Amino acid sequence: MSILPRRFERIKNVLNCRMKSLTVLVEAVNKPHNLSAILRTCDAAGVFEANFICEKDEVKTFNSTAQGSQKWVKLNNHKTIISAVSELKKKGFKLYGTTLNESSTDYRNYDYCENTCFVLGAEKWGLSNELVSKVDESIFIPMTGMVQSLNVSVATSILLFEAIRQRKSKNLLPFNGEGLSPKEYQKTLFEWSYPELASIYKKSGINYPNLNQYGEINEAINK
Ligand code: SAM
Repeated sequence: MSILPRRFERIKNVLNCRMKSLTVLVEAVNKPHNLSAILRTCDAAGVFEANFICEKDEVKTFNSTAQGSQKWVKLNNHKTIISAVSELKKKGFKLYGTTLNESSTDYRNYDYCENTCFVLGAEKWGLSNELVSKVDESIFIPMTGMVQSLNVSVATSILLFEAIRQRKSKNLLPFNGEGLSPKEYQKTLFEWSYPELASIYKKSGINYPNLNQYGEINEAINK
């Protein structure tokens, strides 16, 4: 059965604003409500994919706080710090580690219009020394309260929306799919519109069919 036109329009409108050039790398955050809130913020900010360092298994612990955003933000799980950092750097990202020490810089002093990855740390311990030594810059959000830090998902929101603010002021936010390659756009459009069908195609190793302007499937399965 075809997707409803209104649903297809909504999916396209969201996908049109997604960006590959803005992401997060989350290390050892383990509380489901924090992971969920981070994902939900990524979705709201137009982040296409989020990165997690997860040595054991896939990050699966999302709860109702996510409001289903894990379906709309691609999750990249990295087994080690080294693989995460080298993959992101290969893709051209500048890594901004969040650290609350004296050598860190006020986050408002940087420009986040180019490929930007904010690196967030665990609830209790923050970023590991290993990861701190590998980021390009260390940043912090100034605070004046009695408590020493913000909740990690709150810090994520402040940083992502600062990047959005800067990009908006320079007319750099995508609105017509420019934030993704055409191939990635079409692939994601099919996966979001027909998730169950997409997994069948994926398992069978068959290319996704094209969709017409109404979101209807154009071609029969081509083997
Ligand atoms: N004791 C930890 C530390 O020294 O980093 C506190 C960890 S904090 C609860 C969890 C994460 O939230 C941090 O690793 C960082 O990613 C983010 N965070 C919290 N407050 C922040 C701030 N003021 N500036 C930047 N990031 C912050």
